Amino acid sequence: MLHVLAFPKRIRSGLLPWKITVQLRHHNTSALPPWLPLPVLICNLYYSSMSLKNFIANNFVDTLDASRGSVDVVAPATGVVVARVPVSSRDDLDQAVRAAQQAFHSWSQTTLKQRTTLCFKLKELIDKHADELAELIVLENGKNKAEALADIAKGNETTEWATSLPDRASGRVLEVSRGITCQDLRKPLGVVAAIVPFNFPLMVPFWTIPISLTMGNCVILKPSEKVPSTMMRVCELMIQAGYPPGVFQIVHGTADVVTGMCDHPDIAAVTFVGSSNVAQIVANRCRAVNKRFLALGGAKNHLVALDDCDISMASRDIVASAFGCAGQRCMAASVLLIVGTGSAQTSLLSEIVDAASKLVPGQAAGQIGPVIDAASKAKIIRYITESEQGGAQILLDGRTWAETKTQGNWVGPTVILHTNKADAALHDEIFGPVLSVYVCSDWEEAIEIENANPYGNAASIYTERGANAEWFTSRFRAAMLGVNIGIPVPREPFSFGGLYGTRSKFGDVDITGDAAMDFFSNRIKVTSKWSSSYSATGKRAREAEASSSSSSSASSSASTFVDKASFDGKI
Ligand code: NAD
Repeated sequence: MLHVLAFPKRIRSGLLPWKITVQLRHHNTSALPPWLPLPVLICNLYYSSMSLKNFIANNFVDTLDASRGSVDVVAPATGVVVARVPVSSRDDLDQAVRAAQQAFHSWSQTTLKQRTTLCFKLKELIDKHADELAELIVLENGKNKAEALADIAKGNETTEWATSLPDRASGRVLEVSRGITCQDLRKPLGVVAAIVPFNFPLMVPFWTIPISLTMGNCVILKPSEKVPSTMMRVCELMIQAGYPPGVFQIVHGTADVVTGMCDHPDIAAVTFVGSSNVAQIVANRCRAVNKRFLALGGAKNHLVALDDCDISMASRDIVASAFGCAGQRCMAASVLLIVGTGSAQTSLLSEIVDAASKLVPGQAAGQIGPVIDAASKAKIIRYITESEQGGAQILLDGRTWAETKTQGNWVGPTVILHTNKADAALHDEIFGPVLSVYVCSDWEEAIEIENANPYGNAASIYTERGANAEWFTSRFRAAMLGVNIGIPVPREPFSFGGLYGTRSKFGDVDITGDAAMDFFSNRIKVTSKWSSSYSATGKRAREAEASSSSSSSASSSASTFVDKASFDGKI
């Protein structure tokens, strides 16, 4: 525990020791001078202390089976190993589930208002520690500091929304027959699991955590093994906020923990956010055991620009959407469909290329960070090269960054002008700073291309005319639409989620907002009949009414009403 508490401080101050350690580890030790063993030992001790632990019952604990090894967490900007994530086993998961089940008994008995009080505290603590959390994001994910702070602020909006649950989650009560009331209650599901991707180390976990906890569930998170440290720091803030042991836990790992979460009989529901192929695996496994799940997958988002758009606003916005966070956003623009070939269209394209060419590599506000890993860099470069070989024009070539910056995973903003609609870069999710441009002959062709893509996250239209915008918003297939906005992420209280039935969403609700409140609770319906349905004489109120109505024709219209749907103890 002490070690993990010291961890964030080391991250802030420990970049030099990491570098030394990593360089020494890659040395042939037999060639080292005789005085080096001590520093090597110290550095190796330091290196082994970078191993993260699972967070179970408010304790940081080692995995039960260390022989399963670990995964290096590599800083994308430098290629330096900054931490190691244990590859946990099903036994580790079982341990967390048992602690969660134990916690659930009392946690689910607390009132919604009590749980909301902790949620308020958590929100404050996240805000207070935003800067240090952002540094962890910059280090492990690579995005720039301003983007990292936005990651935290956006994630914490869900915490803020969760504090409104006492108002939103209160059930209805209605007298459905005379003396009989129906009431709906929300009961938490139990232990729920959340599996998250690398691209938003805090925001995406927070799509699930505050709402599910406040609804009375216990949560087990599997962070992305590429960016685990931000949520480790959040564990400490959770303790500080007062969350009891077992209510929120982390089990690190890879595919085995994920499939274990889907299959585990004592995990009631699973949320997953990541690539479409894995989303589908999660969906299929959960369906097979009749488990509640929501699995959000990848995306290919289309922006359409008409000749009446505000060129300077649209070009700025499109550049921010395509290249911000190095294009590693599930809501990033990846295809720009320009309608027509007039001077407005030419100006728009040249302003986009001009603005994008001024972007520089780095991790300060306004700069473009690296992509997550070497595999991702190689994939992005492959798509650019294949497009070029297929006859597309590379208007701006980000491969130059990869050539000049040899440390880390750098690829610069890239704009590709396609003429062949079949180019793979126009269809596949690349997840990097690449904007594919295609010129359409008319509006119908633009809609046809957007509608035909297998994903369904976002689409946007750039125009200055409302009627044009409506034409597109009523025809786009994606579920999160923008008008003159390149990243149309609905901010809370509007909920987040792509279109069900596409590669972007398996499971049919949104991940935040009211839908999440429903997802993380069971609606229990209680129908009650109390003695108040009897008259003061002890006669049933209905009978008392009936006898008084037979002696009073004045009340006949009210009392002769027969409620044929009532099952009030009669056959
Ligand atoms: P990923 O699918 O590789 O990993 C996501 C999680 O699944 C990680 O925790 C990982 O450990 C686990 N995982 C990986 N392979 C697995 C396997 N074979 N079996 C079981 N679990 C496995 O995704 P990523 O690369 O971390 O994130 C990028 C992807 O996430 C992109 O496709 C992006 O579009 C998507 N994403 C979608 C949304 C959305 O809202 N739709 C939001 C953010 C990211």
